[in-house]
This record gives sequence, C-alpha cells and structure tokens, in this order.
Amino acid sequence: MRKTAPMLLAAALLLPGALIHAQDPPQGSQAQETLDIYFIDTEGGQATLFVSPGEQSMLVDTGFAGNAAATPPPAGTAPPAAAGRPAVGRDAERILAVLGQAGVTVLDYVVITHYHGDHVGGAAELASRIPIRNFVDHGPYTVELQPNRSAGFVAYRTVRDRARAIVPKAGDKIPIAGLDVLVVSSAGELLTTPIPGAPAAGAPNPLCRNAQMKVPDPTPENIESIGLVVRYGNFRLLTLGDLTWNQEHRLVCPNNWLGTFDVFHTSRHGDPNSSAPQMVHALRARAAVMNNGERKGGAPEVWRIVREAPGLEDLWQLHRSAAGAATHNSPEQFLANVNETDHGHYLKMSVRPDGSFAIVNERNQFTKEYPARAANAAPSSER
Ligand SMILES: [Zn+2]
Repeated sequence: MRKTAPMLLAAALLLPGALIHAQDPPQGSQAQETLDIYFIDTEGGQATLFVSPGEQSMLVDTGFAGNAAATPPPAGTAPPAAAGRPAVGRDAERILAVLGQAGVTVLDYVVITHYHGDHVGGAAELASRIPIRNFVDHGPYTVELQPNRSAGFVAYRTVRDRARAIVPKAGDKIPIAGLDVLVVSSAGELLTTPIPGAPAAGAPNPLCRNAQMKVPDPTPENIESIGLVVRYGNFRLLTLGDLTWNQEHRLVCPNNWLGTFDVFHTSRHGDPNSSAPQMVHALRARAAVMNNGERKGGAPEVWRIVREAPGLEDLWQLHRSAAGAATHNSPEQFLANVNETDHGHYLKMSVRPDGSFAIVNERNQFTKEYPARAANAAPSSER
C-alpha cells in the first residue's frame, strides 16, 4: 500500500472544503499505470519488490539476516540506524531504503520462497520496521530443520505468527490488486497442466528429447521453493526461487506447462544445480535478470546457458561475477554492481500493460527500453 491514500485522507480531514475533492488525484500526479519491479542487491541472496498498478506491494524474499554475506560490505558504508527505530541488518536496510523510494509504507505480501538464510534471513528485521499484512510460504520446514540451519526460520516464525500466513498450492493465485500472480511450485509440488491463456503453454517441448537430468545436491529445501508467474497485461515474468534443475525440467517436459515469457529471473542465483537449458531455452525471454553475488552463483556455465537462450536480448546481473571474469559477464552497463566497493545498487524494471518495459541500472542510470512485441501490440483480452 502506498502513502498517497493516507496523506489524501489527512488532507481531507484537515482542510475545510477539501473533502469534496478527496477522490481526485493530487494535482500533477496520476494513478500508477506501471508495474514496478526492484531487484534489490543482497549479495547473493534474494529480495525482489513488486509494486502493482493497483498500488499493492509484494516482496519476494528478504535477503540475509545481520551482515552475513558472501562478500562483506566495505567498512563505513553501512547506513546509520534511524533514531528510535530498531537496528536491522544490511539487507533489511537496503530493502527499507527501496521501499521508501517506492513510497511503500505497508507490505501487503511477503513471499518467503523457502527457509534458507539468504531468503528468509531479513524477515524478522523487516517486520520490526514496517507493517506486513500477509506472509506467503510453503508451510512446515521438514527437510532441513537442523540446529545449525534453523536461525532464519526460527526468527521468521515469531513474526509469521503475528501476521496472516498463506500456504498456497501449485495452481493457486496470490490476490495482489492489479496483477495476476500464479504459484507454479510450492513444497515440492509442481504445476502439471498448462497455464490457461499463457502463450505457447502446453506445447510439446522438443528440448526435452535429449535433456539431461542431474543428481540432486544435498539441499532439499531448495526443492520446496515457491515459484511464481507474474503477469501484467501482455507481460509475463518467471521467478522460481532456488528451485533446482530436475524440478525446472518437470515444469517444461514433456510439454511446456509455463509458456513463454518476457523476463526470466534466474533460479538459485545462477548456480549450476539450476537453470536447466530445456527450461531456460523454452521460455523465449527477452531479458534475464541474474540474482547473483560477486562470489555466489553467477557460474560461467549457467551464464552461457542463459546468454544463449533463443530470443534473449540482454542478461542483466545484480553483480559482476568474479568467476565469470572477462568472458562470462555482461557488458558493464548491464551490471548493477561491478567491484568490491559499490555493492547495494539495484535494477528497476517498469512494465506497461502492452508488454513493453524498461530496465534502469540504479548505479549509473543506464536505461534500456523494450518495446511491445509486434504480436503482443493489441491489448490482451485477459486484462
Ligand atoms: Zn538462495
């Protein structure tokens, strides 16, 4: 929820005669018509903010707790704690700063894709500083709940109990105003039917014929990840948390249940246990955003799989990947953070209902426009 409404209400209460105009937008402003998406840098964790044209907000994951990080921030760069408010860690501060810029004063939905510390870590800290109406998660923590891995989940459980908690199944929707948000994976269950109305959904996927499967690595909690398809008009984005290779395979083989997309937000930070090419190459995304850290994810072999996806125009990265070196990183202007000292920059995407969108690199204000696809130029009848 944005702050415009309470400010209008306050003005209406304070100013005689103002009530008659309380329904009008403030002079010079317009109701938001774009879906704004902020890919926030949490150094190899995840925190993605969606602000809908219906003026509701959905944060997908909360980064790390405290200052735990693959790469510690340089000395003296942490923002000062605000007077009279609880101190929070680096990632919660970064998320709060972006919420402030976006004008979000209440989080309508916080989706916890799964209970690893780079996703659930900042939830309790955030809840100490901003009201959270609904948590969305995959339910019980069953597969990895061990003393040395439980801190993030245990802290989250205390704030989860004070909000409304939603535990969706694959096929359910998150009812955020102005958007169509479909759950395609949760608690190990996957969508097994085509998404109704989605372009090319249900078509046989020829990439399955010679597709490889992988021996799962010993982190089964990733398999529980909540995966989402976010649609706004003709625009579609896929974000699967840390879902792994074999689950990605099942979402698109033998038939592609998901359809095609405009934007793919990479699974598991660009780690080679995810990003199966039989899925990544079937999505036909125009742009990909890799939620890697400098030294987490961003694996060269994954970078190549995403970069070589048919139809991909640009691969944006939250960080230059140290492992990627000179050959497996995108050009500098597509990288939100490029060296050891400039961490914390985000990428902002603004989406219009005709399917066109723009991406801005907050570090250098480099902006790229993606015009509506010719086939999508007509307004969708689903709007
Ligand atoms: Zn992760």
